[in-house]
Amino acid sequence: MKDLSLWKKEKKVKDAVPSTKPNKIYKTPNKSWEIKDKVFKIKIADLLNETGREDQIVFEHKFSDQLPNLDATGVAWSFTIQSLDNTSLLGTLTDVSACFHETCDSCGASFMRAVEVPLYAWRFVFEDDVKKKETAESEEVLFYIDSKAETINIEDIVVQSILLNDPFVKRCDACTKRLANVSDDEEDFGEFEAKWNITFS
Ligand SMILES: [Zn+2]
Repeated sequence: MKDLSLWKKEKKVKDAVPSTKPNKIYKTPNKSWEIKDKVFKIKIADLLNETGREDQIVFEHKFSDQLPNLDATGVAWSFTIQSLDNTSLLGTLTDVSACFHETCDSCGASFMRAVEVPLYAWRFVFEDDVKKKETAESEEVLFYIDSKAETINIEDIVVQSILLNDPFVKRCDACTKRLANVSDDEEDFGEFEAKWNITFS
């Protein structure tokens, strides 16, 4: 467990490093920050020197400020990173799993929602290279390599893979089952009711 003094020291070092992304907002961490592992950085210097090399890393019990409803187990995933050439890397997340504390949109009950993301892939590049040929590739999801530290931070990617799979409406198991069973009947009934109202009002 990290004590507070150690954390403060780390924070100061981080602030002293000039950032190339001035818009980055650091949220004030809550107290639980000290004991939760929120490091998503990976050293990639070796990979960039060796085209075709592939590394696999398994992550467990990770926490992000962007996922406030995460349960105590945190997020787990397997991460494969492959060097494409000396300026770009291909990252692949597999078997991302997490569990969230949720409130049911139908009945208001608290429930746990499990999330499983089988696969999520993207490319890492040096930011300068993209600016040079900005118009070339457009739709592709790109993330940037910190060229000074020779690291990548995969927090945003892990969070994105989970949020992209978020259902529009979150319902507890009981409500999901109930609505799955009656949905067809309900639609017919709704139509009937509408006609009834028009005829007799
Ligand atoms: Zn419910």
